[in-house]
Amino acid sequence: MPVDRKRICVFCGANPGNDPAFASAAAELGRAIAVAGHGVVYGGGRVGLMGVLADAALAAGGEVLGFMPRALVEREVGHHGLTELLVTDSMHSRKAAMADHADGFIAMPGGYGTLDEVMEILTWNQIGSIAKPVAFLDGNGYFESLFRFFDEAVVAGLIKPEHRAMAQHASSVDQAIRIAAGPAPSSPSKWTDPSIR
Ligand code: AMP
Repeated sequence: MPVDRKRICVFCGANPGNDPAFASAAAELGRAIAVAGHGVVYGGGRVGLMGVLADAALAAGGEVLGFMPRALVEREVGHHGLTELLVTDSMHSRKAAMADHADGFIAMPGGYGTLDEVMEILTWNQIGSIAKPVAFLDGNGYFESLFRFFDEAVVAGLIKPEHRAMAQHASSVDQAIRIAAGPAPSSPSKWTDPSIR
């Protein structure tokens, strides 16, 4: 793999959402990751925004690795046209495998699953068990309220400003890819630097 080629993990809705701009952004992101020469890592589904993202990356000649727990594959929501569909034992081992295989992360509009996945990556960065960049691609202000919440949590003293900075806002596909394919966050870990506990 060339030195500047990265694997970017994308978390996004298993539903398409009501705003057609979500699917357009998922297609644009999939295509742009492939055109930039990077690989896609994602949850392996063929439904919703996930399917749109994967199809667009594949159509542009990109590598797409899907990670899916056996139970979901058996319910036939797996995408069988991927470069590789890797089957895991559980939702937990799936998240760990996606995190291991990716150099950086992009969250797109999604629901509980998307939030769960991206929050876990931020948490692992916060405690220093990984150091990988995280971008939120904000289609039509979808993540504005979440970013407001992060700011309120800083004011409340429950998220440190240096950890708040790990959740990076991206207002375009190119910016999201630059963040996710860029350097790891330099924020100190909660556990290695006692002064920021
Ligand atoms: P949600 O945001 O709740 O739609 O969940 C989407 C995220 O959770 C994706 O990034 C997937 O990794 C995972 N996920 C949830 N539901 C499914 C599904 N039906 N098929 C594949 N992955 C799913």
